Amino acid sequence: MSASGVNGRRTEEAISKHHALSITNGEVNFLWWFIQGSIMNSDTWARLMNSYGFCERHAWIHLSIETSFRDRFLLGPTILYQGLLDKALHSMRPPRISAYSRIRDLRATDACMLCAMNIPESPAVMAPASRLDRGRDVGALRRFVSGLETLWRGYLCNLCHTQKSNVHIETLCRRHLLSHMRQRKALNIAGQRELLNGLYEGVTRYQNSLAAGGKAASDQDRAALIGAIGWCSGWRPLLAMLGSAATGLIDVELCEH
Ligand SMILES: [Zn+2]
Ligand SMILES: [Zn+2]
Repeated sequence: MSASGVNGRRTEEAISKHHALSITNGEVNFLWWFIQGSIMNSDTWARLMNSYGFCERHAWIHLSIETSFRDRFLLGPTILYQGLLDKALHSMRPPRISAYSRIRDLRATDACMLCAMNIPESPAVMAPASRLDRGRDVGALRRFVSGLETLWRGYLCNLCHTQKSNVHIETLCRRHLLSHMRQRKALNIAGQRELLNGLYEGVTRYQNSLAAGGKAASDQDRAALIGAIGWCSGWRPLLAMLGSAATGLIDVELCEH
């Protein structure tokens, strides 16, 4: 989906639409099949690693579909975001100490696969209406994230939330971190590494809990998955869904290339 307006700037209408989690029948239809295990296809996995997951909108739509059909059994997302966090942590470790190396390694080198597919709103082969209705409903996502909000708020990117410049630089999402790097603003790489380590460990515990005989995950572990998605792709569609103030239509184009 392109949300660009004239001269490359997004119009308020386009931004609002991009941030909205209104899921089409086509997206439900595709993602229902996708969550059955496509993530382990080697080409799909490579593509998702290159694109750092999905765009901001599709990242939360993917989680919404997962929670709608799998409730808390979110094995696919924990596998995906564990892989992405591992990739991000690798770029934060010595000897990759130059800002250029970090910019190169933290940016997406491919577009969101769901945007690129340009999925038609109505699938050619219609799925059962009950499946489409359930998939379009973001109620399961809302319940999942609302119940954990006090825990994931600490991971929230200050720029996705407030769009103010005087932010704590430890809590920036990947795309705003990249934006800071390009503008040669102050960075706290050690703080970012600590944030990512915490997310990685939580997502890993969540994933392990889904294996036979695994130790039960905690709410903190589930909140880490939400933090991981926000860090990789951005928080604004989730905040817009929750009615959190100041998610802002004052958009910045976060070009990654
Ligand atoms: Zn997308
Ligand atoms: Zn951000």
